Amino acid sequence: MSAFATVLDELVTANRILAREGVVDSFGHVSVRHPDRDDRYVLSRARAPECIEIDDLMEFALDGAPIDARGRAPYAERFIHGAVYESRADVRAVVHHHSPSVIPFSVTAAPLSPIMHMCAGIGARVPTWDSRTAFGDTNLLVTTQEMARSLAAALGGRPAVLMRGHGAVVAGASIREVVFNSIYLQLNADLQMKARALGEIAFLTEGEIAAVLKTRGAFTYERAWEHWCRRAGRPYDLRPMDGPLAGR
Ligand SMILES: [Zn+2]
Repeated sequence: MSAFATVLDELVTANRILAREGVVDSFGHVSVRHPDRDDRYVLSRARAPECIEIDDLMEFALDGAPIDARGRAPYAERFIHGAVYESRADVRAVVHHHSPSVIPFSVTAAPLSPIMHMCAGIGARVPTWDSRTAFGDTNLLVTTQEMARSLAAALGGRPAVLMRGHGAVVAGASIREVVFNSIYLQLNADLQMKARALGEIAFLTEGEIAAVLKTRGAFTYERAWEHWCRRAGRPYDLRPMDGPLAGR
């Protein structure tokens, strides 16, 4: 399989995993930057992630223009992906989701911050972007490059940003990483609400977050990926080039 075909296959798997783990439902999407062209990304046509096949994957320019649509309708919110790739050279994959777990944090002042070591990758404090601030009353969807650039600016150099009354965006250096952080962002939100019901929360300190991320490697993402592939009924494609897998 060529490098590009491998990436496409991994993107299909990412869609299935995010659906299986409840991060996306009928809506939400995951993209990858084109492995050979930094000015393009790959994203499915408008379809529920659970149903996506290789033939649904389309290439886009960073402004959201399809390269060869062949009659396929793109997601209305595809602009989110291009704007993040445009603003972040380090980002190779992007997830946009509407996980119900994160919505309460997007509409209140309650901070969403890591309370468990596995969730350190979501960043010390997940910021919230409010579409109303710059764009007034809208249907809350990010359907222009201008809105998407505003959202990407709120993300800044962080791994994740919440969207008020809408969902979240997670950006990272690989498909495996963004899927990992998307799932653990959802888990952290669930755990944080449970912990808050019990009392005051001891969040991870910035030093602890840094220490966790320093010892996190490809083996972490790989172990989770194999597990999630199994749960999603997708073949597992071992990535030995990503680093040692054993003993962690
Ligand atoms: Zn959305």
